[in-house]
Amino acid sequence: MPVRRRLHIEGIVQGVGFRPFVYQLATSLQLAGWVLNSSEGVSIEVEGAEAQVEDFTRRVVSDAPPLASISRIEADDIPVLQEEAFVIRKSLSTDTATARLPADVAVCGDCAREMKDPSDRRYGYPFINCTNCGPRFTIIEGIPYDRPFTTMRRFPMCPKCLEEYENPLNRRFHAQPNACPVCGPSIRLEEEPSLPPEAALRRVGDLLQAGRIVAIKGLGGFHLACDARNAEAVRSLRDRKGRGAKPFALMCADTEEMRRICLPTPEEESALLSPERPIVLLEAIPGTDIAPEVAPGHRYLGVMLPYTPLHRLLMRTAPQTLVLTSGNLSEEPICHKNEEARSRLSAIADAFLTHNRDIAVPCDDSVTRFVQGKPAVIRRARGFVPRPIPLGFEAVPILACGGQQKNAFCVAQGGDAMLSQHIGDLDNLETLAYFERAVEHFKRLFRVTPEIAACDMHPDYLSSRYARSLEGVSLIEVQHHHAHIAAAMVEHRLEGEVIGIAFDGAGYGPDGALWGGEVLICDYLDYRRFACLEPVPLPGGEAAIRRPARMALSYLIHAFGEEGKAIAKDSLPALSDEEIAVVEMQIARCLNSPETSGMGRLFDGVAALAGLCQVATYEGQGAVELESLADGNADGAYPYELLVRSGLCQVHVVPMIRSVIRDRRQGRPTGEIATRFHQTVEEIVVHLCRLARKESGLNRVALSGGVFQNRWLLDRLLGRLPEEGFDVFSPRQVPANDGGIALGQAAIAGRRRSAGCV
Ligand code: ZN
Ligand code: ZN
Ligand code: FE
Repeated sequence: MPVRRRLHIEGIVQGVGFRPFVYQLATSLQLAGWVLNSSEGVSIEVEGAEAQVEDFTRRVVSDAPPLASISRIEADDIPVLQEEAFVIRKSLSTDTATARLPADVAVCGDCAREMKDPSDRRYGYPFINCTNCGPRFTIIEGIPYDRPFTTMRRFPMCPKCLEEYENPLNRRFHAQPNACPVCGPSIRLEEEPSLPPEAALRRVGDLLQAGRIVAIKGLGGFHLACDARNAEAVRSLRDRKGRGAKPFALMCADTEEMRRICLPTPEEESALLSPERPIVLLEAIPGTDIAPEVAPGHRYLGVMLPYTPLHRLLMRTAPQTLVLTSGNLSEEPICHKNEEARSRLSAIADAFLTHNRDIAVPCDDSVTRFVQGKPAVIRRARGFVPRPIPLGFEAVPILACGGQQKNAFCVAQGGDAMLSQHIGDLDNLETLAYFERAVEHFKRLFRVTPEIAACDMHPDYLSSRYARSLEGVSLIEVQHHHAHIAAAMVEHRLEGEVIGIAFDGAGYGPDGALWGGEVLICDYLDYRRFACLEPVPLPGGEAAIRRPARMALSYLIHAFGEEGKAIAKDSLPALSDEEIAVVEMQIARCLNSPETSGMGRLFDGVAALAGLCQVATYEGQGAVELESLADGNADGAYPYELLVRSGLCQVHVVPMIRSVIRDRRQGRPTGEIATRFHQTVEEIVVHLCRLARKESGLNRVALSGGVFQNRWLLDRLLGRLPEEGFDVFSPRQVPANDGGIALGQAAIAGRRRSAGCV
């Protein structure tokens, strides 16, 4: 007796070879019926002998293709239709969408082999791809994920490609970006447009060997490339880009070259070779031929391996390690259109290697690093976006707008949150425009019409202003550090209250002060401030963030009073007598000197007092330099005091500042000061956790905020807190920095709505 069953599957099931897999499975079991992509996922009907239908139902999950991820499956038996064949039906478009779109995937082994085979028709073709690899998120303009809704729609397939695309037994069956040299996209060296592709690639290799800077269009945007061993080339890239000292990312030709300059662990190597192919921060081998200008003051290098066929081909003739940095002027969004790149990057690049496959949405490279043998993402973009993050509850449609720095926003619907790619710092019009376009794109792709707009409480964040300007939604403002902790809670599915350690540069507190050295006792609905760093003035506001020497002076005046100025003259070379007088006056008269309890600012101040970064060219530079020098060659911690004021525990660091100055006067090595400072912060966290546990009875600790990008500190605490009997959680899938707060905002807003609080 034949039976017929309807299956509905949700999850990452589009663009990952799911339909060909279903087709092959069904036909191998002699089942009739059909499969189709809908905007809700994949729908299947199968008909045949009961045992085979049962087998199919089991194996459709257990044998699913490697890139698929099934989040939900529904099965219903329905009347038999007496069909004979199994077919792949045309896609349906419906209005309620829970379809999950795939992220971009690095070139697979099969395609890489074909590309190297002179007898293959795609020999040396820079856009080779298949069902298991290639562009996805960055070419998708609409849903369902089908070629007419991607930027590949302008390349009609040639008969050979079409045959592969339509043949269920071919590994390019329904591979939406399928293409070949006859019908597909092609590259072009703008300076010599008549060069055939192979010669153009060789020419680019030669230019790079000769120390030139080349703009190269990749998967999610343009990169600027130069030889990482050529100090002059790297310097001129820094100058032309206006980049200061912020480290550049590198692309190594292969793992062998990577091992020549870095010391990767096996786990780090497998991340470098994963389908996501992020940039991984690796311990650098000192004294290699990589120009010191690549990452001044850093002990880590950010390295990736070639992830598109184009990069692989380029690496055959280019220098074996390239600087490969986002194609933009500092702080602007990455360029992704040919015209735009040629005008905006003309003063930076000596040549342009472009192609004619449009990028639907720009997407930077992701950055990750390992702590205690496991990855934790720092910048979440290519390869990870738009993979959903389970929220742990059913949410009404939400748009969470994120922060101001390292912005990423989030749309939530049903049980999932889709965190956007890294957008950047919303300080200029270009980035704000990118943010607004990307929000619209996400709303369209996921068919989300927000009922709630969540944002930071800050009065001036452009993301918050944007949220407040939206009509027809309820606005929910979320405290910055509460959002940081909630993001970690979502990822680890924590319910109930936790002890949240939120350390970052600054976030708006409801008292109008700049918070950032916070211990919160919180759940999703609410938080209580249990402890914080003692507030000190931030003299000149932004100016003190750009000039850590000013922050150091603020701490000196706080610790030594009048005498602090004299100490500053000796120990803070960046400060002129005039600037010292200005800072003193600003502090004394409370002029543009908001109070800050930011842990990031304490790192800045101590870095400057230790003789390191006086003037920062990127956010967190002082902390990075301090961490790089923390060599572990020092015992113990500096003294500090805990004072309780009206129920709030404050950490006073005056004794520590005095000790740092004493160590410097005694000529103690900077590494020793840096180590002792890190150990002090570690002690403070452990101490505060014990106190919070005593008071609240809670045992779970969530660590979040930009300060926890500090590997030394996080590594220590992840080891130490469990020894003290705590369960400790830190973000891994989302950044600990402000790139993760949109997820926390969405969770808090959604939970408040479900609980009827708003
Ligand atoms: Zn492939
Ligand atoms: Zn073709
Ligand atoms: Fe923050």
